Amino acid sequence: MPVYEFQCDDCGQVFEALLRFSQADEKQSCPGCGGQNTHRLLSRIAAPSFSGGSGASVSGSCGGGGGFT
Ligand SMILES: [Zn+2]
Repeated sequence: MPVYEFQCDDCGQVFEALLRFSQADEKQSCPGCGGQNTHRLLSRIAAPSFSGGSGASVSGSCGGGGGFT
């Protein structure tokens, strides 16, 4: 189950919540002030970051022209 981060617009507290995908767009109550004025932050378990844009994307330690199918 993915972890989502929310931030409270009232008190600014950032909190995490384990949500199902179907609940991801629901407003969460702030654990600090109990307010509902929260918004979801970008998840930390985001897309994989490809470091370096040039060259081989697959960092093969064993060089030699691999036949990667
Ligand atoms: Zn709050």
